[in-house]
Amino acid sequence: MSELDRARGVIPGGVDSPVRAWAGVGGDPLVITGARGPRVFDESGRGYLDLVGSWGPALLGHAHPRVVEAVRDAAGRGLSFGAPTPGETDLAELIRDRVPAAERVRLVSTGTEATMTAVRLARAATGRDLVIKFAGHYHGHSDGLLADAGSGVATLAIPGSAGVPAPIAALTVVLPYNDEAAVRAAFAAHPGRIAAVITEAAAANMGVVAPRAGFNAFLRRVTREHGALLIADEVLTGFRVGPAGWWGLDRTDEWTPDLFTFGKVIGGGLPVAAVAGRAGVLNLLAPLGPVYQAGTLSGNPVAVAAGAETLRLADAGVYERVDAAATAIGAAAAEALAGAGVPALVSRAGNLFSIVFGPDSLWPDGRPRDYAGMQRSEHWRYAPFFHALVAAGIAPPPSPFEAWFASAAHDAAVVEEIAAALPAAARAAAAATPPES
Ligand code: PLP
Repeated sequence: MSELDRARGVIPGGVDSPVRAWAGVGGDPLVITGARGPRVFDESGRGYLDLVGSWGPALLGHAHPRVVEAVRDAAGRGLSFGAPTPGETDLAELIRDRVPAAERVRLVSTGTEATMTAVRLARAATGRDLVIKFAGHYHGHSDGLLADAGSGVATLAIPGSAGVPAPIAALTVVLPYNDEAAVRAAFAAHPGRIAAVITEAAAANMGVVAPRAGFNAFLRRVTREHGALLIADEVLTGFRVGPAGWWGLDRTDEWTPDLFTFGKVIGGGLPVAAVAGRAGVLNLLAPLGPVYQAGTLSGNPVAVAAGAETLRLADAGVYERVDAAATAIGAAAAEALAGAGVPALVSRAGNLFSIVFGPDSLWPDGRPRDYAGMQRSEHWRYAPFFHALVAAGIAPPPSPFEAWFASAAHDAAVVEEIAAALPAAARAAAAATPPES
């Protein structure tokens, strides 16, 4: 029996998170038994150059020796205490040092908890119920935030999730991304009822779609005008696209949200996430205030040690290397696809990117700006493209609606190896035919 069959006998679908099942590309997923630097290894010991990066945390590459050492060290002192520890404060301070508007930081274990708590805080702070989110944005799998979500929900083409009661779904207003008029109209339609706008600081769960210049600043202005909070979800972008996340990169116009959510990189591969922001709002959390939130393993000492060491190591050189690798891989993909006559573009937000198939004429301004635009792409070309790369020993994300993640371990030799595999993948994409409609 294969490892995958054994898993399927006990774990639904053989996976603990749906996108790992390769439903968007078909075939059996690789079963990974180890990872180091830019590579993951399957059961047979074959290595693949990894462009998933554990969906974000592996900024430094896999199993960085200093992070592993920090984990060993912390584990040697005990695995979990259920009491305050110095390591939690270290990590919270490292976050605030990079993003001063994170005046207070509450550590949790998953991005889902972070966004769920951010929404609860916004409701408590405003005394209002409705939340605006954007179609194709993914904020984890709490009931209210699953409507028209990205990531695995987009891959499986699920409009929402079964099991979410209609009255809860009705509290979420879903709008097209990058559409200022739609946001203004929603505030006009629900006067005094909107607690918050939650937005991915740059969208990366419907494929990568950067905010239009000034869109986040617009969200800041409009929420302030209407007494609502702005929640910037930087679970994916935070400390990945730059030392201070997308907020740090996108300084064309001032936009400091009331609340941030972080995850992925701040755990360095172990389960850590955070809700952070204005002290006046965060201090509504118990034990100081009336908003309840808790976690047996929140701020776990081993996990925060991995996260803190990752942030300490993520210096300017690391971001330069990740940026350079992302630029080079994106350019090589564009060149290979052009060479094979496949219309495509590389959609970028900092060092995150995804490949969008289809001619520019599919979109009014030559590129997708929202979820509907992404769905118009020729995403059926992705599966053969993906499988050709896997055959060549590369592991890209198993869905056209996910970002590609480079790391600081993706050096020039790694980029060259990926570039060498791209022309054959591009030819496979060229040969793809659209599904019967
Ligand atoms: N928010 C964003 C922007 C994400 O990308 C994700 C996960 O991919 C989440 C929230 C949820 O985080 P987690 O998977 O840790 O629950």
